Amino acid sequence: MKYYVGIDLGGTNLKLGLVSVEGKMLARHASPTEAARGPQHVLARMAQAVRDVCVVGHVDLADVAAVGAAVPAPINWKAGTVPLAPNLPGWRNIGVRDAIQEDLGRPVVLENDANAAAYGEFRCGAARTVRSMFILTLGTGVGGGIIIDGHMLRGVTDTAAELGHMIIQHGGRPCGCGNRGCLEQYASASAVVGRMKEALAAGGASRLEGRDFSCKDVFDAAAAGDALADRLVEETAEYLGVGITSLLHTLNPEMAVLTGGMMASGESFLERVRTYVRKMAFERASTVCPIRWSTLGGDGGIIGAALAAETFDRTGQPA
Ligand SMILES: [Zn+2]
Repeated sequence: MKYYVGIDLGGTNLKLGLVSVEGKMLARHASPTEAARGPQHVLARMAQAVRDVCVVGHVDLADVAAVGAAVPAPINWKAGTVPLAPNLPGWRNIGVRDAIQEDLGRPVVLENDANAAAYGEFRCGAARTVRSMFILTLGTGVGGGIIIDGHMLRGVTDTAAELGHMIIQHGGRPCGCGNRGCLEQYASASAVVGRMKEALAAGGASRLEGRDFSCKDVFDAAAAGDALADRLVEETAEYLGVGITSLLHTLNPEMAVLTGGMMASGESFLERVRTYVRKMAFERASTVCPIRWSTLGGDGGIIGAALAAETFDRTGQPA
């Protein structure tokens, strides 16, 4: 039996899974990233964590056919490098693939984390029945991944599917990328909290006033009848509807999958998003494209990275 390991590298935690050829999670392992100690330290931790998850799953490292490493940054797939990771201190032109490959003596494939999440949902999650889909990861920021006719859309320099930086409001809110009006500044879980704080500072009345609150608290307050929170949630649904509508008109896909921290808002929020998409998108595009929450949730990046490694092991090609 062949095994694959998926690594989901985050700024805070390193999460791994030992995954079967069908995408089943057989064992898992998590540890702190210790990103402050620099890239070489993190690379050594990633390799060690692969050994650790093999121990947890009672599998020999030699039986791991390939390892997929998903990183929170744009990548150079061919070179196996990370040109720049803004959330990882010191990460500039880091040769992730070769470093881990040499450490472990197993083939390694590098992926972007949101692209990996898309691939996971496509292979064995919410989108397993379709051939073309995209994902939006709604967490601290907004990540994106696109699968077209069964293949990951990478672009000429692996920069495709940076969907969080799709500009939805010309001259809008400033974004960490240097532009204004990016989707990420309106529809991430952090943006919901930030916009609520602004509304309160501007004198808005809400039960969340004077409290420390999360994105889920804003959704819970809205569900409990808090008018200001409800307005914020409605606006968030509209912003997402704008972004998804543009993606439907660009890609004409068979499914849109949403994932990340905002999944806590549940099916009722999704229904609000659908309402805006139905209103704005061409009917021929919207009627064939259900909008769903992911089924793999927080495991999507791990499973997707492992299955991208499986594809490379089987075909010698990128996913
Ligand atoms: Zn941006």
